[in-house]
Amino acid sequence: MLSLALPLPFELESVNVFLVALPAGHLLIDCGMETQPAFETLRAAMEERGIAWRDINQIILTHMHPDHMGMAARLLELTGAPLAMHHAEAEHLRSITSGDLRLPWLQEAYLQSGVPLPLETKMEQHFSAIRENFHPLQPSRLFSGGEQLETALGPLEVVWTSGHSPGHICLHSREQKLLFSGDQILENITPNIAWHPGRDMLAEFLDSLQALAALDIDLILPSHGEPFSGHRAWIAETTGHHQQRCGEIVSLLGESPRTAHQMVGVMWRRQLSPINHHFAIFEVLAHLEHLKRQGKVYHRSQNGALEWHV
Ligand SMILES: [Zn+2]
Ligand SMILES: [Zn+2]
Repeated sequence: MLSLALPLPFELESVNVFLVALPAGHLLIDCGMETQPAFETLRAAMEERGIAWRDINQIILTHMHPDHMGMAARLLELTGAPLAMHHAEAEHLRSITSGDLRLPWLQEAYLQSGVPLPLETKMEQHFSAIRENFHPLQPSRLFSGGEQLETALGPLEVVWTSGHSPGHICLHSREQKLLFSGDQILENITPNIAWHPGRDMLAEFLDSLQALAALDIDLILPSHGEPFSGHRAWIAETTGHHQQRCGEIVSLLGESPRTAHQMVGVMWRRQLSPINHHFAIFEVLAHLEHLKRQGKVYHRSQNGALEWHV
């Protein structure tokens, strides 16, 4: 098994992609972002090991974020390999590529969060280049979770872990006690929760962590950073972090009603880059939705923006 860190043009410096030997050829897990340095890194590493493009005969995406799927279209063409991903992720990707490459609910989410127009414009500018990484893809296999793939590591089982993205998957080797964790478990980073209208994505994330806690895992191979151990401790800590965040939100709203945008301002005290501000808004929305379903908070509309109350 080969792990390759491909460079990324953001704060998060690299994304790991993995080549796993199959009974014939190789499986590629994730594709990196569509940049020339990322392509060159992958090409050189394969050449060094005598692996040709055509030796890759299966590509799997853990999820459709640009750092994981950006180069997929190019690699599918070079390798001729079939693509597999979760059906919910394929559907999510379709909803983006069939429109203007933005989340269909993005504008509404900014409006309801009370994001000021100049900040929205800045966020748009930053995202427009990244959106070039979204390509309409035609997966030839759609997972729903529980599928087994024969590899040199023994069978790899598909584990559906919604939360960071609706059709995110991890791959688990029961024999080797390995987990390809995608962005679901990252050592020193709290994975962002993707708010979706009408869904409790935080609950989906926490539930999927519980499913992972039940698995035997000696080594986690995350998409960002080095391999590490101790998934149960990480899950307990991350679950605690979200509970604490929920408590913090309730107490801040107890002080005074606020919009999601105003919550970001008080919760993150430091100045966030436009991209991180976007993720922070969605993170707060996911927590507010979770608390709303528990009957702990509610909102009132103020000129289109939602003001949250306890
Ligand atoms: Zn991601
Ligand atoms: Zn990622």
